[in-house]
Amino acid sequence: MKILFVTSEANPFIKTGGLADVSFALPKALHEKGEDVRIIMPKYEDISEDFTSKMTQLATYGVSVGWRNQYCGLKYLTYDGIPVYFVDNEYYFKRHGCYGYFDDGERFSYFCRAVMESVKYMDDFYPDVVHCNDWQTGMVPLYLSEIYKDRPEFSKAKSVFTIHNLKYQGVFSHSVIQELLGIGEEYFSEDKIKFYDGISFMKAGIVYADKITTVSKTYAKEIQTAYYGEGLDGLLRQKSAKLVGITNGIDYSSNDPKKDKYIVNYGLTTLKNKAVNKEMLQQLAGLPVNSDVPVIAMVTRLVKQKGLDLVTRVIEDILKMNVQLIVLGTGDNDYQDFFEYYASSYPAKIASFIQFNNAIASKVYAGSDILLMPSLFEPCGLSQMIAMAYGTLPLVRETGGLSDTVIPYNEFTGDGNGFSFTNYNAHDMLNVIEYAVSCYQDKKTWTKLVKNAMRTKFEWKTQADEYLKIYNEIVEE
Ligand code: ADP
Repeated sequence: MKILFVTSEANPFIKTGGLADVSFALPKALHEKGEDVRIIMPKYEDISEDFTSKMTQLATYGVSVGWRNQYCGLKYLTYDGIPVYFVDNEYYFKRHGCYGYFDDGERFSYFCRAVMESVKYMDDFYPDVVHCNDWQTGMVPLYLSEIYKDRPEFSKAKSVFTIHNLKYQGVFSHSVIQELLGIGEEYFSEDKIKFYDGISFMKAGIVYADKITTVSKTYAKEIQTAYYGEGLDGLLRQKSAKLVGITNGIDYSSNDPKKDKYIVNYGLTTLKNKAVNKEMLQQLAGLPVNSDVPVIAMVTRLVKQKGLDLVTRVIEDILKMNVQLIVLGTGDNDYQDFFEYYASSYPAKIASFIQFNNAIASKVYAGSDILLMPSLFEPCGLSQMIAMAYGTLPLVRETGGLSDTVIPYNEFTGDGNGFSFTNYNAHDMLNVIEYAVSCYQDKKTWTKLVKNAMRTKFEWKTQADEYLKIYNEIVEE
């Protein structure tokens, strides 16, 4: 099977969140099963010299953006055996980070078109499946079905569109249709890409893909309801026969406390070293070193989705408990300021690292006892899975992938790998934090839960089979 995996970020080249992890781990798992899978993504400025120095230029060509013709350099390297193509245009992508620019609509219109034009330069590669991810790639299924289907390189190609987060939709003004996408006015209709007065890249992906997937079974159901549907629930209900939830996995070779280079290594039989990591983390965070106090951590984008309003609502009550709180994250200024303020006011109780930092993330996963993730919604969530791998118990709200991956502790059977609450309510969360803290005092129970969590696996090997199953289905159709 030949699969072209189209994404706007992939780890280790660049990462702003879980999409990057999935965008390398899934192709890697497919590659290990013998499939010919290739990744294509933009070449951003922040991709390190280690990678750019290894890239070779395969071709240069013109890409139409509305009536204009823009340069594209197609660059290439292999990493872990996987061919990775980079779309190079300095005007669009030689900028810091990945998104958040005024002209993102233009940048990703260009990217989608550049992907379509790139395939003929890929050696002996006529894709069976073009697998697109999130709004930034949403126009690819449209182009494939409407404009490029007669090109020889796409003669067999079917498309899959994966929704990693329905909240971010790529909605732009109506004028984008002709000025940037270069398609006719007939696409501005309710059954095509019109979304209120504008157009939606996400909607294009959903309407034109042969199969739609999202990243957990529960989220696949939730997005068909008005509460989680972000205005697209009606369309998703209509497409429900094509919509499948496949829960993400994590890459255990890069999330392994036995090998992680940033921590004192430990495993199921050397758990005492987790306590050493806790001590080092408390020191790093400037908190009193004390093994009896449970450390609650958050490793997260600081945005509303992550349930931060629950935390800000009852922060004083949390800090009154016998706990320490560590927050690692970046995002909205209000939340950043909030945690910095509390960290400076209560330096013995709370510490904040307002940065995106992989090394600190490892230290936090390894050194804390509880990972707090009270999300308002959560398509899948990787942080809770990583926390479990490090023997840190997730405390989550039961939504999306959090419901599918965290089994709340049952004190009667001893089962469970974390804690959870149902309603989006700050005091419900607080009650469960109190409960978890009381469980922490019972060392025997806690150690059992830690081991349960570390034994819980979310392997990409298994999940990749689910993707292969749907690839096969659409190819046979
Ligand atoms: P989302 O994709 O919505 O941000 P996920 O839980 O799916 O959330 O994935 C988040 C990923 O980003 C995890 O790998 C997590 O460890 C990582 N991450 C989040 N914030 C930071 C940060 N400030 N520093 C380092 N890694 C982070």
